[in-house]
Amino acid sequence: MPKKPLLPASNLKRMIGFVREFSSNQLHLLLNNMQKMKRILITGAAGFLGSHLCDRFINEGYHVIGMDNLITGDLKNIEHLFKLEHFEFYHHDITKFVHIPGKLDYILHFASPASPIDYLKIPIQTLKVGSLGTHNLLGLARVKKARILIASTSEVYGDPLVHPQTEEYYGNVNTIGPRGVYDEAKRFQESITMAYHTFHGVETRIVRIFNTYGPRMRLNDGRVIPAFIGQAIRGEDLTIFGDGMQTRSFCYVDDQVEGIFRLLHSDYVYPVNIGNPDEITIKDFAEEIIKLTGTSQKVVYHPLPINDPLQRQPDTTKAKELLGWEAKVNRAEGMKITYDYFKSLSKEELSKEEHKDFSKYIF
Ligand code: UDP
Repeated sequence: MPKKPLLPASNLKRMIGFVREFSSNQLHLLLNNMQKMKRILITGAAGFLGSHLCDRFINEGYHVIGMDNLITGDLKNIEHLFKLEHFEFYHHDITKFVHIPGKLDYILHFASPASPIDYLKIPIQTLKVGSLGTHNLLGLARVKKARILIASTSEVYGDPLVHPQTEEYYGNVNTIGPRGVYDEAKRFQESITMAYHTFHGVETRIVRIFNTYGPRMRLNDGRVIPAFIGQAIRGEDLTIFGDGMQTRSFCYVDDQVEGIFRLLHSDYVYPVNIGNPDEITIKDFAEEIIKLTGTSQKVVYHPLPINDPLQRQPDTTKAKELLGWEAKVNRAEGMKITYDYFKSLSKEELSKEEHKDFSKYIF
């Protein structure tokens, strides 16, 4: 017996027509949205600054593609983003060829070890990510016609002889000193970025980041803020390197992210300092941490690492004039938030000596 059709032919036809029309409309809308939605690649996405940038660009309505090889980054910093439709993640080492399917509007290059201890432990990787990695990303920016912003650093000024540091200052770097691997990688990074701009017409931006801090810094990455807070929480003495008269100027992460956001959308191609000019000696800073944490520990003095810059303060005139940007969060506010973050970590994490085993990356 022939099977009875489930629907009369006329209804079926109407229905197919409706489905066709509906899906082509939906598809059209979806494609339209996808085309309108800006797509941004953020390298070093699982790191401290990279993860905050992922948050910011997601909140601004971008489709964010995070990339990280997880040598110094930690997936914990971005795990809250994995459930989002407009976030994707590639576990990839950018010193190898980088491929991203589809269109790309922007690239933020933030992949690199950034603490002196890290780049002493993995010097070759530090040099490679700043040079080979940057080359790959500039190549990607060129084929995608994407605008690329690279993360440079106050370390390009080395142990500065000009104070505060303006963007015009060429710096005082010891190429073969222990910090040279980071400083020179970043200096090369700036040079190749400018070359891609002038020679290939790639839209490039360069931010020179001064000591930035906030939640998600790695507890034992050796930098002074996590070091002092970790020591205070664990009831250890605070270790001051040298006589503590060296200065730094600390910028809260939200200010830094705002500066980067504005620079990316500006039309200025030369380097711009982003940092908080509020300068303090490390000795006075240790006293502030003692007050903030209420620790009864004291400070102890250790030798100053080789080529540790004696003074550092950004001249932020350019950022003010070009981007209308200046740091808004004062150290007391920023440090309170940061301290609360470190206090919220588990006891187990707080007592771990080092959270990263680099042994498999050293070759
Ligand atoms: N420093 C310190 N004690 C520590 C860690 C760092 O006195 O336990 C000093 C370090 O020698 C430097 C300053 O604090 O003069 C800032 O160091 P950090 O590693 O945070 O960053 P840098 O600005 O040197 O890249």
